[in-house]
Amino acid sequence: MLDKISLLEFGPEELKEELASLELPNFRFAQIPRWYFARKAGSISEMTDLPLTLREKLAEKYTVFAAEMLAHRKSDDGTEKLLLQWPDGHRVECVLLRDDRNHRTACISIQVGCAMGCLFCASGLDGFVRNLTRGEMIEQILRLNQLLPKTERLTHLVIMGTGEPLLNLPSLLSALNAVTSQENLDISKRRVTISTVGLPQGIEKLADAEVSYRLAVSLHAPNDVLRNRIVPQNRHTGIQKIMAASDYFFEKTGRRVTFEYVLIDSLNDSREHAQELTALLRNRTAIVNLIPFNPVQGLPYKTPSPTATRDFAETLQNNGIDMKIRFRKGNSINAACGQLRRSWKESKE
Ligand code: SAH
Repeated sequence: MLDKISLLEFGPEELKEELASLELPNFRFAQIPRWYFARKAGSISEMTDLPLTLREKLAEKYTVFAAEMLAHRKSDDGTEKLLLQWPDGHRVECVLLRDDRNHRTACISIQVGCAMGCLFCASGLDGFVRNLTRGEMIEQILRLNQLLPKTERLTHLVIMGTGEPLLNLPSLLSALNAVTSQENLDISKRRVTISTVGLPQGIEKLADAEVSYRLAVSLHAPNDVLRNRIVPQNRHTGIQKIMAASDYFFEKTGRRVTFEYVLIDSLNDSREHAQELTALLRNRTAIVNLIPFNPVQGLPYKTPSPTATRDFAETLQNNGIDMKIRFRKGNSINAACGQLRRSWKESKE
C-alpha cells in the first residue's frame, strides 16, 4: 500500500490543484485547512462538517499527520518533547518550551540528521540523512500546538532543532509562511527565529526574501583557528564572510542578529576569548546568546563552572555588548538537540 500524502504538504493554491478532480466548491479550501491549523485536528475523520462521503474519499489517499509518535516526554519545567517517525522510518525530535513570560515556543527540526558536524552537537553525530518536507515541518509545529490546552496556542517558533535551515530554505519558508499566516496559526513573523551554522550565501538569501524572521548565527568561537575546530563548516567560509552577511541582513531587515555562543570548559570560555568576541562585535548592532554546554553522552566536553560563565558574561557586558545567558530547559528529557533521537536509537536497535 502506498503511504498516504499529508494535506500539510500543500499551500492554498496547490491544494486546489491537488484536489481538482473532486470538483469541490471553493469554500472547502478554507474549511479543510482551518481544521488542522486553527482547530487542532490531526486527522481527516475529525473534520465533522465535511460530508462523510468526502471525508472517506479524502482519507483514501490523504492524511493530516503522517508520522507515528514514538515518544512523548514531559519535564518538570513544562518542557515537552516528541519523537516522530516518518513513513520511511526516519525520526526527528521537536520540543515545546514554556516560560514564565507566558511564551509558548515550538522548536522544530529541519533535516533528518545534519551534515555540519559541529564538534559538540549530538545532532550531527550520525551524519545527514535527508531534508524534511514542508508538511513534515508543519506537522511538528501542529503536534506541539496540540499539546497546549484548547484555549492556548503557540506564540513563538525557533528553528533550532536538528539540521541546517539555510540548506532547506524553500521548504522551510513555505512551512513558515503557512503557520504565520493570519487565517492559520497566526504566529507573528517577528517571533520566529532561524538559527544557522552561518552560511553567508544562505543568510543573504534569507535577507533578500524579506520575510521578517529573526536570524541567529551559531558563532561559538571568536577567531577562525578555533572556529575551524569547533564548527568545521567554517573552513569553507571564515568568520569575516559570515559577519559581512550578518551585517547585510541587519541593513536589509533592520533586525539585529543574535550570535549564539556555546560555552565549553577550557575550549572557548576564557577571558581572552570574551575579549576577542567583544572586538568582533563592538561596532555591530548585535546580541550574544551564551549557552552553557549541555552534556552529550559519548562526547568529552564539559560545561564551564558558573564562575567561568559569569566571568565571560561580565567581560562582554563591561565592554558594552548586549548579551543573555540561555538557561537549560528540559534536562530530564534529553531536550538538547538530537539526544532523544540518539538515545532511542541506542536503546531500541
Ligand atoms: N543547526 C542550527 C540550530 C542548532 S540548535 C545551528 O547550527 O544554528 C541551537 C543552538 O544550540 C546552536 O547554536 C547549537 O550550536 C547549540 N547546541 C547544539 N548542541 C548543543 C549542546 N550540546 N549544548 C549547548 N548548545 C548546543
